[in-house]
Amino acid sequence: MIIGVLKEPAFESRVSLLAEAVTALVKKKVEVWVEAGAGISAYCGDDDYSKAGASIRSRGDVLGGADILLSIHYNDIPGTLEHKVLIGVYQPLYNSAHLAVWAKQHITSFSLDMLPRTTRAQSMDVLSSQANIAGYKAILLAAGLSPHYFPMMMTAAGSIAPAKVLILGAGVAGLQAIATARRLGAVVEVFDTRPAVKEEVMSLGGKFIEVEGAADVSRAGGYAVEQSEDFLQRQQQKIAESIARADIVVATAQIPGNRAPLLVTSAMIAVMRKGSVIIDLAAATGGNTEVTRNNETVFHKGVIVVGNSALPATMPYDASKLYGKNVSNFLQLIIGKEGDLNFGDELVKGCCITHDGKVVHEKVKDIIKNG
Ligand code: NAD
Repeated sequence: MIIGVLKEPAFESRVSLLAEAVTALVKKKVEVWVEAGAGISAYCGDDDYSKAGASIRSRGDVLGGADILLSIHYNDIPGTLEHKVLIGVYQPLYNSAHLAVWAKQHITSFSLDMLPRTTRAQSMDVLSSQANIAGYKAILLAAGLSPHYFPMMMTAAGSIAPAKVLILGAGVAGLQAIATARRLGAVVEVFDTRPAVKEEVMSLGGKFIEVEGAADVSRAGGYAVEQSEDFLQRQQQKIAESIARADIVVATAQIPGNRAPLLVTSAMIAVMRKGSVIIDLAAATGGNTEVTRNNETVFHKGVIVVGNSALPATMPYDASKLYGKNVSNFLQLIIGKEGDLNFGDELVKGCCITHDGKVVHEKVKDIIKNG
């Protein structure tokens, strides 16, 4: 069994496996081939991989010779990889155009963002490991851009009130943003449609603002679902009151497979103090504000609005370390004793997108069918 680590597209600084994860695989008698320069942007050199027991190869060699190919993104992967196994974060609910080609090539693809989010899957949950970084970096980025202090300051030159931070969406990224903002001394208010997160928000020192009548998530495995027009209007009113006093907004609200909910209008931003900062982590799926532009920073009536869903890539070493650990745990699950693929496991089935000449994931099939 040969596992190949591919260099990511130019926009990505992470790598799917660091040298330290290679050591563990080599100990298990798995051969690892790494594309030359794959880890450079994550501060892991070819020499580090070699020391860990990997073989440094050209891209063509890795693509042609490895049985399992690891890469975070699908962008630069050619469609001619008959019978290979691919593992990455391919976001098939949003990008499905290439899947027919993969199926035709009998490529078996596993997209780790589709892993069922059960307790057993936690050690492989790339969405959580990366969202945690995004929440942390969102606050640091906001603190860097803000013209204000985060902590309260009592100095001989006068007093400064603590920054007021508003968090929209208290999933993994939102909870880490709350914790990081609190560590820096900010006062934090939080909105989420899932009442279950209220206690977690309060235990981190945030104030949870409730809006009555959110859609029941109990049949969606605890995940967010789309809300009624009436709920969204009442929620927007409450967010408008809160945003008017906020210096920083970190927007993380997402609904898997859908456009991100639009929670903040341009009129709401217009009443914020000049120099306020909004970091929109939902930018790649449409953004939580009306003015967000993905991968851009816009200035709206004196407010800085950063649309960035790729913050984990700004901390490439630890992001790759955690991602690689998730992948290694997943590899342990799928590789059987004889080097065969273990399809019996619910988690393996749950994130398999193409196999045996077909798109096999039900949700992805629905999306392709309905255009
Ligand atoms: P996410 O990135 O999909 O969404 C972020 C947050 O936005 C969620 O908390 C969601 O409820 C919220 N949101 C959606 N619409 C909203 C709206 N209109 N207004 C305000 N907030 C809105 O979420 P996530 O970080 O991936 O986590 C979602 C859930 O999954 C959490 O309960 C988390 O604990 C759980 N989870 C489970 C596992 C596991 O068991 N393996 C792993 C990770 C997360």
